[in-house]
Amino acid sequence: MQSMNTSPRPGFLAALTRGFKGHCPACGEGKLYWRYLKVEPACGACGHDLAQYPADDGPAYFTILIVGHLIVAPLLLFPFIWQAPVVLVLVSTLLPLTVATLVLLPLIKGAFIGALYALRIKAQDGALHTADPADRSPQP
Ligand SMILES: [Zn+2]
Repeated sequence: MQSMNTSPRPGFLAALTRGFKGHCPACGEGKLYWRYLKVEPACGACGHDLAQYPADDGPAYFTILIVGHLIVAPLLLFPFIWQAPVVLVLVSTLLPLTVATLVLLPLIKGAFIGALYALRIKAQDGALHTADPADRSPQP
């Protein structure tokens, strides 16, 4: 589906921010998700094809990177982590880590889709990297 949006294309940061907020990166008005992480097939406001962006494992990678490096790694600096019983540490850290992961994942996925939109990376671009090289011969 082609985009019906006629307004100027937003810049990288604007598209990233719109996606982060859970809105269509093209217009910033329509919803990006119809469920927790399920991307709308098309924007309800401008009709932009939102299903064409291959987020794949990218958002999970960045979420793990952020949760692991900004939350888990600093936790290891506190002595109670090493001195308390394992059960107490697991109970007191796994719940906040799970909540942080579940809260961050849709935000990061939205920003990731916004970045893909801004960089004009679409699902069909992935075929260039996965297709059999023999199939890349010029078409008649
Ligand atoms: Zn839109």
